[in-house]
Parts: sequence; structure tokens; C-alpha cells
Amino acid sequence: MLKIAIQAKGRLNEQSMDLLADAGISASSGNRKLITKAKGFPMEILYLRDDDIPQAVAMGVADIGIVGMNEITEKGEKVEEILPLGFGACRISIAVPREVEYTGTEWLNGRRIATSYPNILRTFFAENGISAEIHEIAGSVEIAPAVGMSDAIFDIVSSGGTLIQNGLREVEQVFFSEAVLIATPDLPEEKRADLDKLKFRLNSILDSRGMKYVLMNLPRTAVDQAVKILPGMKSPTLLPLTDPEWCSLHVVIPESELWEKIEQLKEIGAEDILILNLENIIR
Ligand code: ATP
Ligand code: MG
Repeated sequence: MLKIAIQAKGRLNEQSMDLLADAGISASSGNRKLITKAKGFPMEILYLRDDDIPQAVAMGVADIGIVGMNEITEKGEKVEEILPLGFGACRISIAVPREVEYTGTEWLNGRRIATSYPNILRTFFAENGISAEIHEIAGSVEIAPAVGMSDAIFDIVSSGGTLIQNGLREVEQVFFSEAVLIATPDLPEEKRADLDKLKFRLNSILDSRGMKYVLMNLPRTAVDQAVKILPGMKSPTLLPLTDPEWCSLHVVIPESELWEKIEQLKEIGAEDILILNLENIIR
């Protein structure tokens, strides 16, 4: 049976469990057992600290796992990257005290940088010919400059709020991360089939996320214009209405373009527009 490693608690836990739930896979998260059997798919769920997931998957303790690309790269474990999952987005950046006059990467030479990601930082320094001192610390990296432990930090940033609160300024964005589904390199054949099934479910969910199903009434004469407004998508579905002058147009639109398209469709006479959430797209 496939064994998946998920972060026990923290930023990736909820979204990992939500993704599995959308794929029809549930687990009782109430009792904090290390391992539980999932419902809806032949799978066991192993709850770990995110730092331990790359190694657990590389060793085959878990067959697959969900973890941030930052941890995969930092740990340098040999795992197969199966699917980026579109959540847990963040970057790892160099930040300096606000008052510092940062002149570019050469400013970093000879400085002390505090981080929980020494390997990614070392690679960045090597690529940019920088020689600086790396101070590895496990947590609360953002307070290191204020307490005199370092001149700058290399840490995870998402909104940037934590940096501002600590009087820091982001100066180099080095590494971009999101949550990824990974697998152990030599997954046995019979587990491969289950992984393919899981991948199929996850792909159909990820495809539908960020998409809306839109229906509207449209004057027949406006159909050609509507098709021009909706380029790049497969031809929209047209259904007749009892009134021969009107039809019903159905189309899937990415959320990012939704309101712009709706405004344009209204301008050419679309009425009674319904916007629905999409649950799955099976291609
Ligand atoms: P654990 O106890 O499992 O070791 P943790 O404290 O190391 O947890 P979290 O803060 O829960 O880790 O973050 C887990 C992952 O979430 C990070 O490794 C990163 O991939 C992602 N992430 C996304 N946004 C952020 C953010 N703003 N700060 C930290 N991590 C983030
Ligand atoms: Mg961790």
C-alpha cells in the first residue's frame, strides 16, 4: 500500500490535507497518530516534520510525500519530483537591516549571514563569487541582526511582513519554492500504478483550481464577437433558447481573467451571467 508523508502540523499541513480531501481521500486528523490509514484510496498517511520528509521519501520509509521545494533542495536528497502542487509559494531571500546601504551582492563579502538554509545559500555564494560567513540557526532567523548575531539574514519570505516588523529589507530574491509531490526513486511497479491513479486525481483538481464555469444568455448576433473575446479556449458551448434571437453560452474562464472577460461580454449584450465553481476537469 502506498505510504504518503505529509507535514504533521504547520503551513503545508492543511493545504496538503485539503488537496487529498478534494481527491476523495480523507484521514482522521483529530487523533495525532504518526500514521493513519486513509479512506477513499489504498494509502497510509505518515505525519512528519517537513525537514524529515525529503529523507523519509529518499529512503523509502514513505513512498511519496508532499513538501516544499525549499526543503527538497536544501536537504539534497535524491527524490523524484512528480507534480508541483500550486500552494505553499514562498521565496528565500537575503535581507539586511533597513538602514544598511546595500550596494549589490559584493556588499555580502566578509559579512555574517544567518540562515536555516546553508546549502542553498552556499550555492548562491558560489555562483556569485561571494565569500561570506554562514551562520546556521534553526529558527527565529529574522532576529539575528538585531541581537548582533549576523549582518544579514537568508530566510523565507512570503508577504514580507515579518521582515518589516524586524526592521529588515529584502535585497536579493534567491530561491522560489512551492509544495511538490515527490516519490522515492525506485518505487515498486505495483505502487507505481497507485501513484499514477493519485496523479490523475490531483491533476484534474489542480487543472480546475483557479477556473470558473460561466453561463450567460447572449443575443445570437453577438456570438462571433463572444468567440473573439474568448480566444485561446476551446470553442464555447452554445445552447438554443426558446427565444430564437437568444442563445445560452457556456465557457470555462481562468479566474485571473474572469472580470475582464465578463465586462467585455456584458458590453456585447450578455445577460443573466452565472459564475460557478469548477470541481474537476477530466481531460
Ligand atoms: P516543521 O515543524 O514541520 O519543521 P516548519 O516550522 O519548518 O515546520 P512551516 O513554517 O510550517 O515549517 O513551513 C513549511 C513550509 O511552508 C516551508 O518549508 C515552505 O515551503 C512553506 N512556506 C510558505 N510560505 C511560508 C512562509 N511565509 N514562511 C515559512 N514557510 C512558508
Ligand atoms: Mg521544518
